[in-house]
Amino acid sequence: MVKERARILVVGGGYVGMYTALRLQRNLRAELRRGEAEITVVTPDPYMTYQPFLPEAAAGSISPRHVVVPLRRVLDQCHVVIGEAQRIDHTRRTATVTTLATEEEGTGARRLAYDELVLAPGSVSRTLPVPGLADHGIGFKTVEEAIGLRNHVLEQLDIASSTRDPAVRDAALTFVFVGGGFAGVEALGELEDMARYAARYYHNVTPEDMKWILVEASGRILPEVGEDMGRYTVTELRRRNIDVRLDTRLESCADRVAVLSDGARFPTRTVVWTAGVKPHPVLAATDLPLNDRGRLLCTPQLAVDGAPHAWAAGDAAAVPDVTAAAPGADCAPNAQHAVRQARVLGDNITHALRGEPLDTYAHKYVGSVASLGFHQGVAHVYGRRLKGYPAWFMHRAYHLSRVPTVNRKARVLAEWALAGLFKREIVSLGSLEHPRAEFELAAGGKPSQEPPRNPKG
Ligand SMILES: Cc1cc2nc3c(=O)[nH]c(=O)nc-3n(C[C@H](O)[C@H](O)[C@H](O)COP(=O)(O)OP(=O)(O)OC[C@H]3O[C@@H](n4cnc5c(N)ncnc54)[C@H](O)[C@@H]3O)c2cc1C
Repeated sequence: MVKERARILVVGGGYVGMYTALRLQRNLRAELRRGEAEITVVTPDPYMTYQPFLPEAAAGSISPRHVVVPLRRVLDQCHVVIGEAQRIDHTRRTATVTTLATEEEGTGARRLAYDELVLAPGSVSRTLPVPGLADHGIGFKTVEEAIGLRNHVLEQLDIASSTRDPAVRDAALTFVFVGGGFAGVEALGELEDMARYAARYYHNVTPEDMKWILVEASGRILPEVGEDMGRYTVTELRRRNIDVRLDTRLESCADRVAVLSDGARFPTRTVVWTAGVKPHPVLAATDLPLNDRGRLLCTPQLAVDGAPHAWAAGDAAAVPDVTAAAPGADCAPNAQHAVRQARVLGDNITHALRGEPLDTYAHKYVGSVASLGFHQGVAHVYGRRLKGYPAWFMHRAYHLSRVPTVNRKARVLAEWALAGLFKREIVSLGSLEHPRAEFELAAGGKPSQEPPRNPKG
């Protein structure tokens, strides 16, 4: 029984937002039914994205709709508001929120009052002031970016196949990825594998014509799988003719030429930027305490330090890692922590409402699995190192067990099974991004290049 009517506001519908709301929904079922508690989730998209599947979505092994989970369906006891928190005044317990409706109506932002706040907006790409990056770079954090990149890569093969200009062809067939973490290595591994396969359907493009380049500022890649497996990944990628450049930075990509710190220059139409993440900028628009990296200062109980009734977890939060040997270490921003923290967070809010003692978040990082393309992978889990097919299989088995909802598990499994029977999908649906172009042409106007607001439909 909760002490008084509790209005819980969850900002963010990703890992932390969705799993915390699910936990609260389960814990407070009776109170929600009696109207003693109310959960509102504010998030820009009506779905949670299972980011570890984005590289497979980009490769066409999983449909875009199956890497996302519809929030309204799973959070059926919550109010889901599609919008963005712009500011949070925790002293007054209010959040300023814009929604699609407030934008359309020009009515400005809405104020939402709350009693308990869960702040989980995650992170955004950490960019640097590299000339040309804002104009030509593409990130790899969202399903839109993953599918956009897939279409773009296949389109480059079409451009290369149809041009007579060797410079245009060369630039089209050069793909530069910046950042050797999970996102960059998996995206490159899957897309190179997909493009290599697709090339067999082009009469004048071969895998040897393509240049795939991975640029990493430090001396190693995939730190998540340990040093040995990181070294193995470099060897494996190089064996596939991928040009891995360690201790190298992208200095410019202005005028569609990637200039690297080692002096190399690559004319290219593709620069994928996956050089790390930083906490979401909305955190700076709150009166809550942040650490020197801009993450919310939290206690091991996932409360925001010194701010009663505010809670946080995931990429946005600096949660002390109580299992770390070195004191002062925070939990790394990854899904492994985000999911587990969300469960403790949901329980702790319930405990707080019921006047019960709070739980402490403690989880020792168990290692990681990464896919490098079809039947290729690398893993370092519970001290065991795996590579090649066994690692790839473990990657699939692990993520299938983790992707939320039975519905999504069944759909993903069905897609993988069908892929074993039929040929891979190699079609580019880039024109989906301009659905009005054909009609505008028919109506006598000039086709606009404006993408639709929600390309997923
Ligand atoms: C390609 C890729 C592969 C990855 N693979 C792995 C992996 O294999 N293993 C692993 O452990 N981790 C992996 N990660 C990292 C993992 O996905 C993140 O650590 C995890 O998503 C963090 O959860 P979160 O809830 O903090 O943030 P998110 O899941 O990003 O959720 C944040 C949510 O907040 C919403 N939001 C943002 N701003 C606002 C606002 N102003 N108002 C309201 N809502 C807002 C966002 O739209 C989003 O829905 C991967 C990440 C990427 C990009």
